[in-house]
Amino acid sequence: THLAEVADWSGPGRTSDGHRVDILANVQDGAGARAARSTAADGVGLFRTELSFLDRDVEPTVDEQASIYAEVLTAFEGTKVVVRTLDAGSDKPLRFANHADEANPALGVRGIRIAEGNRGILHRQLDAIAAAAASTDSSPWVMAPMIATSAEAQAFAADVRERGLTPGVMIEVPAAALLADRILDHVDFLSIGTNDLAQYTMAADRMSADLAALTDPWQPAVLTLVAHAAKAGAAVNKPVGVCGEAAADPLLACVLVGFGVTSLSAASAAVAGVGAKLGTVTLEQCMAAAEAVLSTSSPAEAREVAAGLLG
Ligand code: PEP
Ligand code: MG
Repeated sequence: THLAEVADWSGPGRTSDGHRVDILANVQDGAGARAARSTAADGVGLFRTELSFLDRDVEPTVDEQASIYAEVLTAFEGTKVVVRTLDAGSDKPLRFANHADEANPALGVRGIRIAEGNRGILHRQLDAIAAAAASTDSSPWVMAPMIATSAEAQAFAADVRERGLTPGVMIEVPAAALLADRILDHVDFLSIGTNDLAQYTMAADRMSADLAALTDPWQPAVLTLVAHAAKAGAAVNKPVGVCGEAAADPLLACVLVGFGVTSLSAASAAVAGVGAKLGTVTLEQCMAAAEAVLSTSSPAEAREVAAGLLG
């Protein structure tokens, strides 16, 4: 049964024929990271740093940020950890970073866009991540949310490399998925955020229960963009992960692997289920399912086709 598989899974992530895929955890602070460590997760694929600061009026100092980041790095010592810079705005506004009066916050100054008018806030956070890395002797990867253009990726990567860290970007705006090949000229990895990618592709608020059918990560249009970005990464041999909710669905996770995605990052509660399911299918099966879903016209059809090929 599904439950028995979950109980049995002990990592590392791989298909039944041995194709390695890192199964990672999404975390938001040290306590969450320590809890995630008790799963068999291969590391952290998304550390949502902004969630530590939702109640703050004033930007936390570099030292305070560094100690919060170090807690997560310590919990996952010796494994891969991907730290995301502040994704402030929209559903996660920060009083010290965002404008209070935007008409359309999801389309406003959110994520990396804050750095356009306030580079210092990004630089101080990167200094804090670098300090946390040094104090814990670890080498986190660092990625920016809400990248829409190649120029944004280039500027971010320069700031990250200057501090000896490894830069990547999230692919969660359709423009970035479409031009993933050009963005990859500047960064070392991509991480696809399917929650926002679905929201912006389908023009449907991810928070709206009424629109949940539109923001379903099985939407063929969303999967087509994911496949496109994964292919761009494979072409230049750079890692492409998925860290949105899509990676928490065991069946969809196998489809993502078939697209060429190299890591899957999900809420800790979903890690074992994804790892267990992946261990029951071959890479060839994943690739067949990936190809098949791209010819479907609805989430229901995509699910059905994938279930037929992946068991
Ligand atoms: C996403 O958009 O899919 C994502 C992982 O980021 P968040 O959910 O934090 O916006
Ligand atoms: Mg997002």
